[in-house]
Amino acid sequence: MVTRKEPCRICGSFEGIKIAETEFWDLQECNIVQCTSCRLIQLDPMLTAESTAKGCHAYYLKEIAETPVHKQMRNLVRNYRRGIVFASLLKKKGYHPEKILEFGPGSGYFSAGVRYIFTDCAITVADIVDDVLKRNREVHGYEAIKGSPEDIQLFEGKRFDLIIARDILEHVTDIGKVAGNIASLLKQGGLLHFITPNGKDDVWGHFLNWKFRKKASELLINHVNYFDGAGLLKCLNDAGFVKKEYFTYQIKYRLRGKGWKKSIKLAGMKSTKRSADEFITAGIKDEAMPFIQKEKILNSFIFRIKQKWLFVLYCRFKHHWMIHLNPVRNIGHEIHGVFVKSADNQ
Ligand SMILES: [Zn+2]
Repeated sequence: MVTRKEPCRICGSFEGIKIAETEFWDLQECNIVQCTSCRLIQLDPMLTAESTAKGCHAYYLKEIAETPVHKQMRNLVRNYRRGIVFASLLKKKGYHPEKILEFGPGSGYFSAGVRYIFTDCAITVADIVDDVLKRNREVHGYEAIKGSPEDIQLFEGKRFDLIIARDILEHVTDIGKVAGNIASLLKQGGLLHFITPNGKDDVWGHFLNWKFRKKASELLINHVNYFDGAGLLKCLNDAGFVKKEYFTYQIKYRLRGKGWKKSIKLAGMKSTKRSADEFITAGIKDEAMPFIQKEKILNSFIFRIKQKWLFVLYCRFKHHWMIHLNPVRNIGHEIHGVFVKSADNQ
């Protein structure tokens, strides 16, 4: 048990259980602490806005630099297909979002897939990394706004039918505030779609590294929240969201021991205080960024199928999760959610 430096962002409690020590690049040292009241696991103290911006940029460049081009291309195609699957299922349920906002779009291919189905929709993306915004504007023609769900003043007057936040919620400083912000950016009856890691699975490496080595672990991607399935659901309900779909998927990591097996083999890396500046100074060459050649990427045989329904069927076949579990059990690699802003929420 420890007394936290900062209160829990969901319930305000100062009491916590220390799970690990961690270092975010060479930028900040934090504890990973679980709230004893609401079970949310968070960094304590939280990353500053400055180190988050710098670390995010460094991570974005690191991922591109260290992922071979053919693998990047495969991921782009996958994200595109996932966007198609997601949107086609929405359409089947009678939704036709016109104004769509995606937070943290990465390469932008998920939303491109959504637009394959909803051909007339207007897509806005928001990110804190300038490079991401520039590329999304150039490659996909989206409206791109610098910002995060923590600070929504920039969106003044804008309301959306659908907000997409894939792998974003685990990065935000104040999840309670963000849930409220997203609700206020949605029209009545608007949808929020997110995926976010299952916290127990995600924090396991940090926990084991601390348990076995009593040394700080390396935190290169700024996961500052590790969600408990029940806690996240309550947080979203409190912000006025009603559950449409909420499940975890991908249990292969669980089968390998993540989340329960106390083996040093599953422990995370010890921190080496990697230099964020080094990546930022080095930059990336255009050749290493295949996502800028959209036509080339979407030029395989399968993307040229004229029958849209057949193509959609193919995408669904490629991205169908056999097993859906209730996130409350905290089993599975990732949490998938579709929530609707309820009528009594303003
Ligand atoms: Zn709490």
